[in-house]
Amino acid sequence: MKKWVFCFVILVSLLFGYGVRETKLNADNEIQLNEGKQAQEASSSMSELHIDADQIYKGDLLLVNKDHPVHPESEETGAVNLSEHLELVNGFRLLDNEIELSPSLARKFADMVKAAKNDGVSHFIVNSGYRNHEEQNQLYAEKGADYALPAGYSEHNLGLSLDIGSTQAEMSQALEGKWLKKNAWRYGFILRYPEDKTAVTGIEFEPWHFRYVGLPHSAVMEKKNFALEEYLDYLKDKKQITITIDDEIYEISYYPITGDTTIPVPAKGGYELSGNNKDGVIVTTQIK
Ligand SMILES: [Zn+2]
Repeated sequence: MKKWVFCFVILVSLLFGYGVRETKLNADNEIQLNEGKQAQEASSSMSELHIDADQIYKGDLLLVNKDHPVHPESEETGAVNLSEHLELVNGFRLLDNEIELSPSLARKFADMVKAAKNDGVSHFIVNSGYRNHEEQNQLYAEKGADYALPAGYSEHNLGLSLDIGSTQAEMSQALEGKWLKKNAWRYGFILRYPEDKTAVTGIEFEPWHFRYVGLPHSAVMEKKNFALEEYLDYLKDKKQITITIDDEIYEISYYPITGDTTIPVPAKGGYELSGNNKDGVIVTTQIK
């Protein structure tokens, strides 16, 4: 292709916001990513939202690891004992009567296992959910640093994670583990400590530990093969991306937060806000 033709194609692509159509992820969902700032919405459709610094510590995208402890603002306060709320226990078993989860996370998990059941995979058991500091420290003492984190440094303290097992086999071998590894992202969950990301996460492969981040974030992470650490760095670097999942289009924007500040959000609402537990917030808007 002549150079000027190539430049023209690039220019047209930029003007019209066409991304490179990437290969299909699988037969069911088609995902397309556009990276970097897209054409700005008319300013009349946006409004300024005042954000205080605490917003960095709230939401589904908080990064918690050995370098980023759970901030007091982020602690789960809505977890309930599932054995006392059997209406939330649908399609899975509980290891014991101590398991706690927030009702919203339990429902999201139930939606996912319902989909698995439709594929003939149905032997799920929840081995751990929300853990308070005391329970976390006890686990840390038992399991050591490769498999557990001290209190305040575990996603289980955040209430967004659960350890899922199969009643049939080890998760690395079980159909339940294989199904989740392939499909969890469709329901907003991620395998948080994958086998090929131990250098990034600092945690050994845990085929049982799933974390809720929500769609469309789980889809981007699946598409790019990102661990949460990498995904948050990527958003910070790109500032804004657009993802198309089948016919739905989402815009994801990162804003650094230093003290109280304002950020642009759609005036009509319909967006989600999450901090990253580091230095900024992420605004997610479904635009179609
Ligand atoms: Zn876990």
